[in-house]
Amino acid sequence: MMLKQIYMFDMDGTLLDLAYDDFVWNVKVPEYYVSTHSCSDNDIHHLMHQYHQQYKHTLSWYSTQFWSKKLQLDVVEIHRQHAKHIATRPYCTELLTELTQQGHECWLVTNADIKTLNLKLEKTQIGHYFKHIISSEDIGYAKEDAQFWHTLHTHLPFCIKSSVFIDDTAAVLQQAEQFGLKHLWSITQPSSTRTITATHHYPMLDQLTDLLKFLPKPLKEHDEKSH
Ligand SMILES: [Mg+2]
Repeated sequence: MMLKQIYMFDMDGTLLDLAYDDFVWNVKVPEYYVSTHSCSDNDIHHLMHQYHQQYKHTLSWYSTQFWSKKLQLDVVEIHRQHAKHIATRPYCTELLTELTQQGHECWLVTNADIKTLNLKLEKTQIGHYFKHIISSEDIGYAKEDAQFWHTLHTHLPFCIKSSVFIDDTAAVLQQAEQFGLKHLWSITQPSSTRTITATHHYPMLDQLTDLLKFLPKPLKEHDEKSH
């Protein structure tokens, strides 16, 4: 069977401005923690740093349920209270409109858990561009885990050679590359409130629509068989 070429997009920092997540996690969550548990700013920053070392790149790291329990706070409610700051990155809808109009199949492939994913889709209204919306919470592994890609590909087969994947996290791109994806892109400035990311191993998109200049050709039947 001929497998399809898919355009897979990360959400936070790729299609959506990471400034929102920075604001909620680095400013609001510590603020609520300090006022609820009457501790100092230093205590929470020390605690968050410790958790960062311990859980970074794991499924727990992306789970609001995990953090709500760990910090004894309603993290989803904090998200809801600040949801007006959720925003797409420049040219996000232009790129998705163009790709879908050209007949390309787009998937959203995110580490966001179901609750924050739904909140972000509700606020940005980009859900309709995607044939499939995949949360690592559903897959059972974070995108930084090799099992994520194997599990995804088992459930929803796609052409590994010709599919495109865009993500702002180097550890995620590395895992996608190990799995065999060839057309990988990173993002120059995931957050509008932070400076430009230092160049890493993957080609970087400054403006999202720049991707349109580099669309790979879908494979022909015989190319796919040789894969
Ligand atoms: Mg991201």
